[in-house]
Amino acid sequence: MVKVTSQPPPANVPVPEDRPLPPGPDEGIDVDFHGPQGEAQPANSQDKSPEYNGVASNEKDEKEEEYKCPECEKEITAEQVKFIIEQKDKKGNVIALSADDEKHLTDILTYLNKYRKDYKLDTCLRKAHFIAQAAAECGRFSTFEEGLNYGHKGLRGNFSKYFVSSFKINDYFNPKHERYNCFTKAEIIDLLAVEYKKKDEKDKKDIQTLLEGDYKELTVDETLLYGRVDEKNGVLIKDDATLKISVKKHDAFKIKWPSRVYGDRMSNGKETGHDGYRFRGRGIIQLTGKENYTKFGNHRKEHPFPDDTTGYIDFTANDSEGALKGNYDKISDTGNLMYAVQSAVVFWAITTSSLPGLADEDDIKQTTYRVNGGYKHLGERNDFIKRARLDDGLKVFTHYRNLHTNGNKSQKDTVIKNLKLLSESRTKKDEATDKMIELKDPEGEKLKNELAPETTKPQAGDQPGAKKEGAPAVAPPKKK
Ligand SMILES: [Zn+2]
Repeated sequence: MVKVTSQPPPANVPVPEDRPLPPGPDEGIDVDFHGPQGEAQPANSQDKSPEYNGVASNEKDEKEEEYKCPECEKEITAEQVKFIIEQKDKKGNVIALSADDEKHLTDILTYLNKYRKDYKLDTCLRKAHFIAQAAAECGRFSTFEEGLNYGHKGLRGNFSKYFVSSFKINDYFNPKHERYNCFTKAEIIDLLAVEYKKKDEKDKKDIQTLLEGDYKELTVDETLLYGRVDEKNGVLIKDDATLKISVKKHDAFKIKWPSRVYGDRMSNGKETGHDGYRFRGRGIIQLTGKENYTKFGNHRKEHPFPDDTTGYIDFTANDSEGALKGNYDKISDTGNLMYAVQSAVVFWAITTSSLPGLADEDDIKQTTYRVNGGYKHLGERNDFIKRARLDDGLKVFTHYRNLHTNGNKSQKDTVIKNLKLLSESRTKKDEATDKMIELKDPEGEKLKNELAPETTKPQAGDQPGAKKEGAPAVAPPKKK
């Protein structure tokens, strides 16, 4: 299947050069997805193999019997998830979940435990990485639809490359600017507040005349137009001897920010068609883009979920032509979180089929890149996985002990390889906070020193891909 790449910004959109372009969410789509045609191996084909027990196939040693970790078999419990996502107040007391969040978590785990073995959530490592990623994507299992309530600073911080920071307002009136002529002149004029400094000038010129004449070079940061403007009197964009021009407080344009950010990629149509809004992040892994919504629907058609009698659903269908409500809303329906979970496990095991293998390597950086398309909230994801490795979480360290004590040589080697990775100092910038995140897990280092003390001293060539502290950011993972 042809790889879907991010649409480059239009030629007339300057791209800030001080910041690398984050890959779009579509970068996480695996190119060898075959779900809709049904020609791929079903999600659970590997799991039915009698000798399969949670070790990546290329790590298998066919000669020796593999050991099965009893923890891998167990269901994910609400207590484990609550430990992983735990938050404390200023006094250090654990903040309890709201009644709604409790119910949502219970519902989610009911579906997740029903589906997980068919969707490669069948080992301690896979369960741990899935929960860590989902928790970061859906606000600790509390938000199942990408929010619209961004201020202009938030849009600039998160989606910088999609909004021009200094756009000539006059160009909005130019029909040749195809990307921008979605606003009428009246809408642009309505958005601006003009305050004349001399009374006698008040009625001299209307705003349009000003913008097409003396102020034709006036520029605006587009995030002011798409974002929420909290300030009572809008945001000042021009102040000279004659007049002040501000962007007024406004509810939002008819075009919401996701239509700009997700427009023209991931099979979404143009910004003005609102596909970006319709197919914004939904479900517990925040499925994004018409292409992924289509793949999810097609997969369900070929591989019905157990106990799900709702049949084929086209998750791209509108309630009526041109409507902004439709079947896509089902994926974020808090009254029935079945599709919120289904969409996530399909993304995990089918659409982005490399994810379970990356979880097998216990690599939070790579799994984050595949889920997020970048490294947003990497610090939070790293916090979650560190807790998921503990015994109150999803017992990854117990899993390592079990395999190292009882497993065959290949299994033992894999444990040590993973623990070496956790012992390294590896830093990577969190794109949401701009902070460098240290990915080393000291608990992993402790266990490595206990299980394999002889490997404490690094040996040349035994850590392919290992990064030294302070090393520059690594290249994105190779697409399969
Ligand atoms: Zn296990």
